[in-house]
Amino acid sequence: MLKIEPYRPQAFIDFTRAENVQAYQQALAKVRAEQLGRHFPLIINGQARDTAQRLLSTNPCDTSEVVGSTAKATIQDAEDALAGAWEAFNGWKTWTMDARARVLLKAAAILKRRRLEACALMTLEVGKNYAEADVEVAEGIDFLEYYAREAMRYEGFGAAETTWYDGEENGLMYLPLGVGVSISPWNFPCAIFLGMLAAPIVVGNCMVVKPAEDSGMIAGLMLDVLMEAGLPAGVVQFLPGVGEEVGEHLTTHPRTRFISFTGSRNVGLHINEVAAKHKPGQRFIKRVFLELGGKDALIIDETADPEVAVTAAVQGGFGFNGQKCSAMSRLVVVDSVYDSVVGKFVERVKALKVGTGEENAGVTAVVNQESFDKVRSYLEIGRAEGKVLTGGEATGNNNGKTGHYVQPTIIGDVDATARIAQEEIFGPVVTVLRARDWTHALEIANSTEYGLTGGVCSRDRARLEQARAEFEVGNLYFNRKITGAIVGVQPFGGYNMSGTDSKAGGPEYLGNFMQLKAVTERW
Ligand code: NDP
Repeated sequence: MLKIEPYRPQAFIDFTRAENVQAYQQALAKVRAEQLGRHFPLIINGQARDTAQRLLSTNPCDTSEVVGSTAKATIQDAEDALAGAWEAFNGWKTWTMDARARVLLKAAAILKRRRLEACALMTLEVGKNYAEADVEVAEGIDFLEYYAREAMRYEGFGAAETTWYDGEENGLMYLPLGVGVSISPWNFPCAIFLGMLAAPIVVGNCMVVKPAEDSGMIAGLMLDVLMEAGLPAGVVQFLPGVGEEVGEHLTTHPRTRFISFTGSRNVGLHINEVAAKHKPGQRFIKRVFLELGGKDALIIDETADPEVAVTAAVQGGFGFNGQKCSAMSRLVVVDSVYDSVVGKFVERVKALKVGTGEENAGVTAVVNQESFDKVRSYLEIGRAEGKVLTGGEATGNNNGKTGHYVQPTIIGDVDATARIAQEEIFGPVVTVLRARDWTHALEIANSTEYGLTGGVCSRDRARLEQARAEFEVGNLYFNRKITGAIVGVQPFGGYNMSGTDSKAGGPEYLGNFMQLKAVTERW
């Protein structure tokens, strides 16, 4: 067993303090001086391997700037990575839980020391402002710390309760599954990337990890951290590449035992389908964990504290430009307070500063051209489906910088069946819906195919209790923003088309990556 203090989430850095802002700016300058243009090769069997082709990371807030690059894995690299991971599995699975957990704890200690460096790189690579980058790196550290401790519960023959039966010894053993594939998104390129690999490896699996194309550098930096922590060769095979090519090859491969995917609904459903197909030589039914998109609603009723409610709406709707699966993309307001609440919401959003991550702007640029085009097309749809209350333009530039800038936008009086009330936009665009009363508001909130996060701002106890039972989401929040789940505190995962609800950062999560063997000896 590990001898360590109980798990506690990391505190966030307070950026109202001048010295913390200064430290962040110094980290940005250092990363600019030392890492701009850095190239991250593949890592297969502990060895760096470069490829003929490269994937470039560009700064979303200034698209003329190339931040760096990663290698671009080929199908042969994927084959080698999978074969090497199975080879490494033979050794890694024999390590004790605490020995594996120590690698995570050491990695957490290193990441704590390199916290601002990781933040600064994310600011440049995906455009996160200081607080958004900081809470994410804190979450990454939390995943390492939390899963290391959780693993202790599964050590040994007596780890799971079984009923005594006279004349026999009965018990359960938790065993790792084998080699899994992790495919992660760009919007939490540090925390989700780390969490999706840390959980399976700490219980003895080996992983082939494919980060998103837009955020390969921060993933590469996390590999630096893991290797510095002493991770044995082959346990994590780092394979940046193109989703439709190398990602597809990995998810359909007969030697992939399980798939952990976080990303969009459509890609997730596609993976679910292809992973279900048996291939010649395949000896197992793949387990598939899918954590997908959202169309998350916050309800504000007539009893709510307007200040609390509007703050929750601004933070939930526009944190990291609405590019969170948990983002409040629908605001449902009860008719009797609609005008006053929405009026205040619009005022607050108009005051948000648009700019670069480096300037620590409240709203920065969306991640890439594809996202920009998608958000722009929804703005056009939105103009027809509702009334633009603020914003409404995808400008593509800000203060002389060319980037994927979209004005923070609120579209009001939208029908609950409208496309902008049903489809995930993934940008700084909030759809506002008018509900006749509380009952109607809850009905609207439950009227999409998604079910990730949701919230209610109300001072009516009975309504909160009703929402607790009937609001169909995996993560429900009262009288606060609906984003920012903390590892171990708010285990995270969605219902319905938002995913398989594997609840990352929760007490059930590690169990996903193990199988149980029941062993009986008759005396
Ligand atoms: P995508 O689904 O576009 O991509 C996710 C990952 O899948 C990327 O690494 C991508 O690679 C890869 N990929 C794409 N096509 C395939 C394929 N055919 N086979 C295998 N892999 C493939 O999502 P985004 O990266 O744009 O992320 C945003 C989405 O993620 C949003 O919908 C958001 O709601 C969701 N999300 C959900 C979370 C949750 O916990 N529920 C948390 C965070 C985000 P490439 O980069 O090369 O395209």
